[in-house]
Amino acid sequence: MIYLDYQATTPVAPEVASAMQPWIEERFANPHSPSRWGHEAAAAIEFARKQIEKALGFKGGGIAFTGSATEAINWALKGTVEKERGNGRSRVITLATEHAAVLDSCEWLAEQGVDLTVLPVQSNGRLDLDLLARELDERVLLVSVMMVNNEIGVTQSISEIADMAHRNGAIVFCDAVQAFGRLDLSTGPDLVAISAHKIHGPKGIGALWMKKGKEPAALIHGGGQEQGLRSGTLSPELCVGFGAAANLANERATRDLDHVQRLWTAALDSLGPRWIVNGCTQCRYHGNLNIRREGLDAARLVADLRDIAFSLGSACASGSGRPSHVLRALGLDYREARSSIRLGFGRYTKHNELVEACERIAAAAVEQEKLDA
Ligand code: PLP
Repeated sequence: MIYLDYQATTPVAPEVASAMQPWIEERFANPHSPSRWGHEAAAAIEFARKQIEKALGFKGGGIAFTGSATEAINWALKGTVEKERGNGRSRVITLATEHAAVLDSCEWLAEQGVDLTVLPVQSNGRLDLDLLARELDERVLLVSVMMVNNEIGVTQSISEIADMAHRNGAIVFCDAVQAFGRLDLSTGPDLVAISAHKIHGPKGIGALWMKKGKEPAALIHGGGQEQGLRSGTLSPELCVGFGAAANLANERATRDLDHVQRLWTAALDSLGPRWIVNGCTQCRYHGNLNIRREGLDAARLVADLRDIAFSLGSACASGSGRPSHVLRALGLDYREARSSIRLGFGRYTKHNELVEACERIAAAAVEQEKLDA
């Protein structure tokens, strides 16, 4: 099996698995209980929290743990509107290329009476900042823009977007799930969602970073954990795993990024001609290679090469059979979107296996073309 689906999830780092082990097997105390064991578990969680906050690098705030980034996103958007709506602002701006967790939360807010604007992107996947400038007015409460797109890897200028939104008095939320642990995060957002399993950590844990004073309304009521904003017993093993993954990503940032750049070049070289990269090739995280080939039936290609794990787009969208909303937002027609595949690689991808996979993908595409001729 050659694993090329790093945007869907990443392999758990060995260091992360060993950091988690004792908290699963022996040190099972409730971190919120007053026993010595409880205190130890609580201290381990606080240590992990600091590791994540350090890796994030933002000043003047802190994280609350959540069960996933999807939860953090829902909380940031819905909780901010709930808290701030009385202030006379009721407009939310987001982009057509956002993750379903953002778009569906925004649609839900629109059903509750929020005035929703979903901005288009340019054909390279980037937001036109002049368009944003024209849209920003005193009614805008919240601007939600992701940093690295999960389907095409294209980045947005979060610092500039945040500056513009802040000058208009809006709050800025950033889905940094695909950026955290991979790229330097820009400064600027008030709220940031991240997820452990995209940075070689465990599944089932995410976090919301909140600037002091910009915390959304409480999400879950109960035992008062996470500053009374998100109740529920925290899992020491998941928090410790997330912390270890963040720490590792922080330490290895340059090495990981150099590796990814080399893999990107090797992948393009071994695919050969006739493949077109979807989205900007420069403003991009290079561990995401979303490409198309004229006439290709991408779903058939994925089915034909079952021992290579790659996908058509987001893991969520792949199952639906619908062509990707992100590719459609770039202006690709139905056929072009259906002939696109996403190869995702990173820290543990070996050069040789990537080259082998790309050569086999290219050969299978040629074979398909011959059969269809
Ligand atoms: N946002 C982006 C950009 C993602 O890629 C994902 C995961 O696919 C999510 C949000 C949701 O993250 P989680 O799996 O932690 O809910």
